[in-house]
Amino acid sequence: MNRILILIFFYLFFNNLHSIELKGEFYQGNLIIGKTEPESQIFIDKSKIKISKDGYFAFGISKDRKNDVIIKIINQNKTEEITKKVYKKKYQIQKINGLPQKQVTPPKEVYERIKNDNKLISEARSINSDYIHFVDKFNLPIENSIITGVYGSQRILNGIPKSPHYGLDFAAKEGTPIKAMLDGVVTLSEKDMYYTGGTIIFDHGHGVNTLYMHLKDINVSKGQKVKKGEIIGSVGKTGRSTGAHLDIRLNIFDMKLDPESVLNLK
Ligand SMILES: [Zn+2]
Repeated sequence: MNRILILIFFYLFFNNLHSIELKGEFYQGNLIIGKTEPESQIFIDKSKIKISKDGYFAFGISKDRKNDVIIKIINQNKTEEITKKVYKKKYQIQKINGLPQKQVTPPKEVYERIKNDNKLISEARSINSDYIHFVDKFNLPIENSIITGVYGSQRILNGIPKSPHYGLDFAAKEGTPIKAMLDGVVTLSEKDMYYTGGTIIFDHGHGVNTLYMHLKDINVSKGQKVKKGEIIGSVGKTGRSTGAHLDIRLNIFDMKLDPESVLNLK
């Protein structure tokens, strides 16, 4: 009996040593949200990350990461280090054959346009604001919709391996209203990008950002503050899309994360 009490005591004692709370599972591609005492310093794999005045912070686990995540917390006089094992995610392989060649490799005359689109997207994703909207719960952008594409799928088009699909695809009719998944600020609103067509990017703070693509209508403009649930546009098939659907992305800066890690799909 005494021994059990001692064990319980030690268990509670050592757990309380962690002055940190973490939300999210340590799977490849996941977004992790943390909270610790305000005015602490947080290091992920030796690089210092932003912490809000309330002690909130966010970081991602990249798609193919295998090594453990080392979290270091420094506050006042104590330093603490936590090691987290990363769990693997199984990614699908998608083979599509018989596509017109110009859909597999873009024609030379659009290279300049693609370069410019990429520049705009990476500028929007580099914003490191103080907002902490990422702490809040994400909502689905379209309710009662079927998921037709998931994060990480390796695409082989006409036998050529292409970069993986980083989005989450929702099947929906053209014109279906799309709701903002989370409060945020519009950092990009473009009607006609080469790959992504009608595109919106939102900043949710600390580098956490979401992107919506292939939109038909866009109801928001750059700089606008948007509330979760607001209608931001409608489903389309603009850009390089095989049909009407919504493709959403989740990033922390330029690290591409799995939108499913923040959406409750079950
Ligand atoms: Zn997609």
